[in-house]
Amino acid sequence: MTTDLDTFIAGLPKAELHVHHVGSASPRVVAELAARHEGSTPVPADPARLAEFFTFRDFAHFIEVYVAVLNLIRDPEDLWQLFYGVGRDLAAQNARYVELTVTPYTHLINGFAPEQFCEIIEDARASVLKDHGLAFKWIFDIPGELGLPAAESTLRIALDQRPDGLIGFGLGGPEVGVPRKQFAPYFDAARAEGLHSLPHAGETTGPETVWEALRELKAERIGHGIGSARDPELLAHLAERRIPLEVCPTSNVCTRAVASLEEHPLPELVKAGVLVTVNSDDPPMFGTSLNQEYAVAAQLLGLDRSGLADLAGNAVRASFMDEAGKRALLTEIADYARI
Ligand SMILES: [Zn+2]
Repeated sequence: MTTDLDTFIAGLPKAELHVHHVGSASPRVVAELAARHEGSTPVPADPARLAEFFTFRDFAHFIEVYVAVLNLIRDPEDLWQLFYGVGRDLAAQNARYVELTVTPYTHLINGFAPEQFCEIIEDARASVLKDHGLAFKWIFDIPGELGLPAAESTLRIALDQRPDGLIGFGLGGPEVGVPRKQFAPYFDAARAEGLHSLPHAGETTGPETVWEALRELKAERIGHGIGSARDPELLAHLAERRIPLEVCPTSNVCTRAVASLEEHPLPELVKAGVLVTVNSDDPPMFGTSLNQEYAVAAQLLGLDRSGLADLAGNAVRASFMDEAGKRALLTEIADYARI
């Protein structure tokens, strides 16, 4: 059932700070890619069968879908279509500015050359801005489970190619058994060249991983960070230093980081005065969307229209948009909320 609040959310101008490039491929994008490779992929191009394939069942199935989509990115046209489609679909939800987490390593090991990869995504970025009015920026992230070779390769493509859209250096993948500290030299090198430190931390682990990301990787914003709720000292530190969290509620339930939405620590984080943003992570694969995550937040936090506009404003303030861009988007949000 669509409520007035859902309609308000759909029209609300938004910034999205935590969404992954493969994980945000919608069934429409995947159908386009599957049609190009019919006969050599297990992914159906038929919309009804594809919807069934996409339905979230458990984490193992999510990985299966993720890998199947990844395997559809075989040539330059596929890569362009993926990035263009992700931008088009986010723009349809009134996202105006997106810091997209991109994992170049997964494509480099599949045969894309670093220069070619960056040229294609920059071309898609320009087309998304021109056709849909959405400004993409990139966070190149290390798939942590693949260790130091992945870190080295991600740093090299970031610094050697330095595509115009690149603003940040990230770290994703599982946290358990993958200490953040080993990546410190790579983050130091990226920061020395002006990239922002934006690792995932405290998603499935506790506050100690967030502390490690702050101390060892000099994190300026934390991907997820929900484990911080268990440590009052850390919450005070995040609030005082204005270090934002990129919270993705539905993702946290799907990955079993939290048992249910009702038990999500979002309200505690907000109550502690932390600058909290709401994001979608891998939306179609987790059966959600950016708009849906705002609806979830409204429910968890008891937000009305003005509360939702404040939440949208948080993402603008926590972004690395230039000051003029921030002012313009904040004004647009305020004007919209007044109607
Ligand atoms: Zn993530």
